[in-house]
Amino acid sequence: MDEKLYLIKEGEISLKGGNRPLFEKRLRGNIKDKLGAFHPRIEKQKGRFYLRLDGDADDMIVGKALSTTFGITGFARAYELEKDPEVLDERVARLLPCSSFAEGGGTFKVDARREDKSFGMSSYEISCRLAGIVHEMYPEMTVDLKNPDHVLHVEVRKKIFIYTSDNKGPGGLPVQSAGRGMLLLSGGIDSPVAAFHMAKRGMKLDCIYFHAYPYTSELALEKVKKLASLIAPYLGGTRLYVVPFTDGQLKIRKEAFEDETTLMFRAAMMRTAEEIARKRNAGAIVTGEALSQVASQTLEAMSFTDSMTDLLVLRPLVGMDKEEIIDTAKRIGTYETSILPYEDCCVIFSPKHPVTHPVKDVSRRHYESLGMEDEIKKAVENTTVFYFNPMGEEEAINTP
Ligand code: ATP
Ligand code: MG
Repeated sequence: MDEKLYLIKEGEISLKGGNRPLFEKRLRGNIKDKLGAFHPRIEKQKGRFYLRLDGDADDMIVGKALSTTFGITGFARAYELEKDPEVLDERVARLLPCSSFAEGGGTFKVDARREDKSFGMSSYEISCRLAGIVHEMYPEMTVDLKNPDHVLHVEVRKKIFIYTSDNKGPGGLPVQSAGRGMLLLSGGIDSPVAAFHMAKRGMKLDCIYFHAYPYTSELALEKVKKLASLIAPYLGGTRLYVVPFTDGQLKIRKEAFEDETTLMFRAAMMRTAEEIARKRNAGAIVTGEALSQVASQTLEAMSFTDSMTDLLVLRPLVGMDKEEIIDTAKRIGTYETSILPYEDCCVIFSPKHPVTHPVKDVSRRHYESLGMEDEIKKAVENTTVFYFNPMGEEEAINTP
């Protein structure tokens, strides 16, 4: 059966020392998790992965899978040929019309590497020969060795490999190489981007959403599920824990000082997230907070919520401004969903004049005196779990 070949370049993993094989094993596993349907075979040679898939593998699906897999800096559909100059000429002539070269304008370069020195031509000779073919087919294209618009790669190894398109991967390190965290996922712009940044450093993430039905609508939950499915490919699959928190919210609204309601809610979120994190053996809670973005994101407020849990609280967006966050949200494809109008937290739970500079010990005392344990216990017991696989599809989950 014929097969499809892709060359994959790893990035930061190549800088790793003795534990590099572990990172590479993880990367292979993550690729296989996404493309299992096409029976992936992966070999490593000279700093490259050679991924072979069944001949009917869909390029769009493969593109989506690889462009969302951390640890990959670039990938390309490649062709493997016999080491025969005539075969090379013929295959290049067939490949160019199906590549970006077919646009016919601009500049190009042939990047030839010869590892097998017994091959009759030097790298330079290969480049000149193939540049001749390009010129013949696309006379208006000119050579630019420094900054070409299009590159034809030729690698002479055991066989000859040729490829043109060089797609970008997301870089970073393979997920599951750096521990496990719980993301507080709201329906906003920020938290999906926070997930992206932590997953990029190799963290495996599940998501938690606090749902205050009917104050937050069914549509708000659908929006959060959609966001979880959109980030799932970057996370190598993810669980979404939907915590019913209406009773907790109502208790806080009734019993807390009005200006502290948001703070108290955030404290309860931390405690609840910690419970769920322990079940999953997660060592960190991740949020989409950025310093001073809203009233509850001051140093004092963040320091207060940190004090509610022994787990590490990570805020990858803390030093970013909204523009930067929006740019990333657009790039990873979550922005359009995040800006849908369904509010993630109903206005009736938001105080008019929230405390911005809480005194940690005072607010902690206020929180403890609320006695939220029963509401939290009940919320955790009634949590519903969804699962989105590494390609972002919802799947049934058996274990809660
Ligand atoms: P976002 O754009 O991520 O919603 P935001 O700027 O609206 O953030 P907040 O609403 O104060 O800011 O939320 C700050 C962080 O708290 C969010 O990024 C998210 O991590 C978490 N969070 C807020 N609301 C919820 C919720 N209902 N469920 C889970 N996490 C939440
Ligand atoms: Mg929000």
